[in-house]
Amino acid sequence: MKRILVAGGAGFIGVHLVKKLLEEGHKVICVDNLMTGSKDNIYAFLTNPNYSFIEHDVINPIDVTGRVDEIYNLACPASPPLYQKDPIHTMKTSVLGAINLLELAKKHDAKILQASTSEVYGDPLQHPQPEGYFGNVNPVGTRSCYDEGKRCAETLFIDYHRAHQVKVKIVRIFNTYGPYMDVNDGRVVSNFINQAIRNEDITIYGSGNQTRSFCYVEDLVRGFILMMNSSDTVIGPINLGNPVEYSIDDFAKKIIRMTGSRSERIYQPLPSDDPQLRKPNIDLAKAILNWEPEISVDEGISKTIEYFKALKDYQIRA
Ligand code: NAD
Ligand code: UDP
Repeated sequence: MKRILVAGGAGFIGVHLVKKLLEEGHKVICVDNLMTGSKDNIYAFLTNPNYSFIEHDVINPIDVTGRVDEIYNLACPASPPLYQKDPIHTMKTSVLGAINLLELAKKHDAKILQASTSEVYGDPLQHPQPEGYFGNVNPVGTRSCYDEGKRCAETLFIDYHRAHQVKVKIVRIFNTYGPYMDVNDGRVVSNFINQAIRNEDITIYGSGNQTRSFCYVEDLVRGFILMMNSSDTVIGPINLGNPVEYSIDDFAKKIIRMTGSRSERIYQPLPSDDPQLRKPNIDLAKAILNWEPEISVDEGISKTIEYFKALKDYQIRA
C-alpha cells in the first residue's frame, strides 16, 4: 500500500484519480483549496479510512506528517473562463504550486507527476502535436496565465530533476471530459451537453471550424497511473489524449443528435488566442506506456450525457 498525495484531488479529473487509487488499496491525501473543485465531489470518500482531505492553497508551502510515496499535481483551474478570472493566482498556482510540491517530493523522496497540458503548444503550427514541438504561445494574451504557467511548471519539474534528482514525470493532457465535470465550468463539453438537454441554443464560439480531440477521463487516469508506475528513467513529457479530432461545429451536431435535442446552433465571438487546431500525436504513450484510449467518443459522451441528465433531474427535484 502506497501513501499518495493528490493536489487538486477535489476537481473533475482528481475525483476519478482518487477513486481509482483508493480502489487499488492505497492511502490517499487530497490537498485542494476547493476553488474549482467541490465538497460534493469528495463527499463519498470522507468516510473511507484510507482517505484524508487537507484544505490548502498550493501557492503556500506544504508538509504532511508521515511518509509520502507519490504526488500527483493536478491543482490548477482548467477551464478558460475560470483560470482567467484571477490570472495572477492561476500563474502563482502553476509556478509556486510546482515549487512547493517539488520541495515536498524532494523532502520525502517521493515520485511526482505533473498534469501539464496541450496548451503548452499554444495555437500550434504543427499538426498533430508531438512532444518535440516547442509550441506557439502568446506570452501576453488572456490565456497566457495558464499556458505560460504550465510551461514554467514543466521547466521547474525538469530542473528539480537535474539539480536535485527528484523523480519527476510530466504528462501533457489534451481535452478530457466525463462525469463530475462542473456543470457551470464553461468548457465546451459541459456547455454543449447542458444546453442540449435543456433544448437551449448551443453556443459555438467563432466559425466552429476550430478542432479539438476529446479523451474520456477513465482512459486518461489509466495513463496517469501507468506513467507514475513506469521506470524512473521515464520522465516525459508524454502526450495523453484521444487523437480522434472534431471540428467544434461537428461536435455540436453530434451532441444534438445524441441527446435528441431541439437546440439550434448559434455563433458567438471567438475568444482571443483560441487555438485553431488540436490533436495529439500519441506515438510515445503507445511505445513507452503501451497506452491508448479504449473508450470511444460515442461511448464516453453517452456516459457523460447520462451523468448530466441525472444531475438535471436531481436539480429539478431538489
Ligand atoms: P478542475 O478545475 O476540475 O480541478 C482542479 C482542482 O484543483 C480543483 O479541485 C481546484 O479547487 C484545485 N485547485 C486549483 N487551484 C488550486 C490551488 N491554488 N491550490 C489548491 N488547489 C487548487 O480541473 P480538471 O479538469 O480536473 O484539471 C485537473 C488538472 O489537469 C489541472 O492541472 C489542469 O490544468 C490539467 N488539465 C486538464 C485538462 C482537461 O481537459 N480537463 C486538459 C489539460 C490539462
Ligand atoms: N467553445 C465553444 N462554445 C462553448 C465553449 C467552448 O464553441 O460554449 C469552444 C472554444 O472556443 C474552443 C473549444 O470550444 O475553441 C474548446 O473550448 P474549452 O473551453 O472546452 O477548452 P480549450 O481547449 O479551449 O481550453
